[in-house]
Amino acid sequence: MTGSAEGGPPDGAGPTDTDWAAAVAAVRGLPATARVLLICHVNPDGDALGSMLGFGLGLRRLGVRQLQATFPGPPEVPEPFRWLPGSDLLVAQDDAYPDPDLVICFDAASESRLGDLVDRLDKAGTALVLDHHASNTGFGAIQLVDPHAAATSVVALGLLDRLGVTLDADIAAGLYVALSTDTGSFRFEATTPAVHEMAARLLATGIRPGEISRKIFDTRPFGAVRLFGEVVGRARLEPAAAAGRGLVWTYATREDLARHDQPAYVLEALIDSVRCTAEADVSCVVKQSGDAEWAVSLRSKGAVDVSRVAMALGGGGHRFAAGFTGRGTVDEVVERIRAKLPGALLPA
Ligand code: 5GP
Ligand code: MN
Repeated sequence: MTGSAEGGPPDGAGPTDTDWAAAVAAVRGLPATARVLLICHVNPDGDALGSMLGFGLGLRRLGVRQLQATFPGPPEVPEPFRWLPGSDLLVAQDDAYPDPDLVICFDAASESRLGDLVDRLDKAGTALVLDHHASNTGFGAIQLVDPHAAATSVVALGLLDRLGVTLDADIAAGLYVALSTDTGSFRFEATTPAVHEMAARLLATGIRPGEISRKIFDTRPFGAVRLFGEVVGRARLEPAAAAGRGLVWTYATREDLARHDQPAYVLEALIDSVRCTAEADVSCVVKQSGDAEWAVSLRSKGAVDVSRVAMALGGGGHRFAAGFTGRGTVDEVVERIRAKLPGALLPA
């Protein structure tokens, strides 16, 4: 599934020296007048935005002058990320270079996550992909895909280092937001010694972890607090699901958001209020994204490979955190998940 233009590494092995060299050459070989476009996945999270903007600031230090960053869909950055250094690089997708000399894609496991920006991969002189999803479909001419990386920002820092960019607090802020988002504040299994070593390098630039965590994890409007109360209150526990490992799930509609006057991004944190359920290995939040369309978040505590469930239903992600777009009613979407769970059990 992975694999670079040169033939690529075996599945899951991460970038080879050849891949890194191709990526460095793609950046170093840019003429002074080159236009570079950075893109990331739809509904960008902390890893997508933080990796993209942190890396973008690194490119700026290297002298890239015509530089834009964008993501598919409405150009609104979720409130918790609006302070990120490098946000001045952001443009609406319709204003993004139609045919950049280089496009660099962050944290997207597949082209389907790029919405209307997918055409830039073909129209750009070169397409460079930075990602860490094992489910990455292997798109783009140069692929830096490391399924062992805890966040895309690990890959981004690997490339900045090879390009000789010196870390500063602005670059570090984005990379740190990305790393702390995807490791659940250094709680998840992916939190290796290397992750803490990277965090130490980032913190050494002077960024303030308490302040950053408060902004991205611990601040939400009171309306969202009340909305969470309602939505968590309707959660259902199904102990028999997933061959007895248990499933807990809830849903939120656009009407729920409207009633509490809340933007959709506040629902991104909802899964954390549900997945703590002791009686369920698998947790799920179904968030309405269209008339009969739902963005589904799946999490597992280790008994189930939820990326298999998500991939079977048209999405992707990681073993213990994955998602897909579901169509129909909430009950139909949840029934499809329920049916896939027994087949996605991991060996005990
Ligand atoms: P979240 O539940 O936080 O939105 O996403 C969890 C993981 O699943 C992330 O790694 C994310 O990239 C992936 N993911 C979420 N939704 C989708 C989707 O619709 N398609 C794909 N391919 N991956 C998704
Ligand atoms: Mn990520």
